[in-house]
Amino acid sequence: MTVRTFQRAGYEGIGLYSAIEQQCAVDLSDNTNLWGPAPSAIAAIRSSGERIARYPAAYSTSLVRAFSEYLAVPPECIATGCGSDDVLDSAIRAFVEPGGVVAMCDPTFSMIPVFTRLNGAVPVKIPFVESGRLDVEALLSSRARLIYLCSPNNPTGSVVRPEQIEDLLARFDGVVILDAAYAEFSDDPFTAMASTRDNLVVTRTMSKAFGLAGIRVGYSVSSPALAAEISKSRGPYKISSSSESAAVAAIENDIAWMRSCVEEMQANRNSLGQKLESLGFQALASSANFLMIPVANATSVGEKLASLGVGVRAFSDLAGIGDAIRVTIGPEKMMERFVDAFVQAVA
Ligand SMILES: *Cc1c(COP(=O)(O)O)cnc(C)c1O
Repeated sequence: MTVRTFQRAGYEGIGLYSAIEQQCAVDLSDNTNLWGPAPSAIAAIRSSGERIARYPAAYSTSLVRAFSEYLAVPPECIATGCGSDDVLDSAIRAFVEPGGVVAMCDPTFSMIPVFTRLNGAVPVKIPFVESGRLDVEALLSSRARLIYLCSPNNPTGSVVRPEQIEDLLARFDGVVILDAAYAEFSDDPFTAMASTRDNLVVTRTMSKAFGLAGIRVGYSVSSPALAAEISKSRGPYKISSSSESAAVAAIENDIAWMRSCVEEMQANRNSLGQKLESLGFQALASSANFLMIPVANATSVGEKLASLGVGVRAFSDLAGIGDAIRVTIGPEKMMERFVDAFVQAVA
């Protein structure tokens, strides 16, 4: 007997997620907040220990209330999860039968084809017409039950135009997921739209702008009916009591802190873009906390950077782009370390 005797059909060839394990002195690989965690969350976690003998709230009632106030949407429109990964996975399971098609923009977040296959569904990738411009006709003719879009998009940083989403929502008879993990770094017209539409789910996270990737808290905004289906598919008790207290504390106390990190990030992103231009490299226009820089032989550039103590994410053969590295924007010192290493790595 081999594992194939036991393995579910369709799981063959799906590997574990390979996060960059090698610890670099300057880690610019995962788009987290390099200014650190939301300060109030730390104290909240410390004092949350007294409650851990008991189960947390099954669907994170106080966290839902906090998100509802933060985004000015009714609490019934919110579903939560163990990271927005969990919300995305649960939403795919909730809205797509096994064998159904999930269409997605390309390139995009690498976990989506994986979650699609793990739920027995079929991923179909639809390249952008040009940076940020969706091929609405191709998405519609893909026979999808669910369409996944991401704005600002990981790994490119491009944003989708609201008119294109309106067009898609009006003509599509399935659910559209718009992943807004990077919403805090740009204007976000989509979250407000989601609570009043019957087929739009916007997902968001505490992992990026709030610097809380370790507590694993994500959420979605949609009609109450879709939110209930996502919560059903997800199951109870997915957010620990410590994580819930930390996220609530951050939302209640650290919005101004988060916005000041975002402002500094934007200034550093602009100056890194200019610096790269002066070196002869053109980063893609980005509305998120990272820059995608097209470079030849990205894998080897990434390896050289790692050997110089700087971690980035390397991509090969992306649709419409080719090879590129993705660099998280952080404090000035880190950006200087990156530029020094980059100059050596591409020499
Ligand atoms: C980081 C990221 C996520 C996952 O975030 P978690 O909430 O930590 O699970 C989801 N979507 C995109 C596009 C991301 O970049």
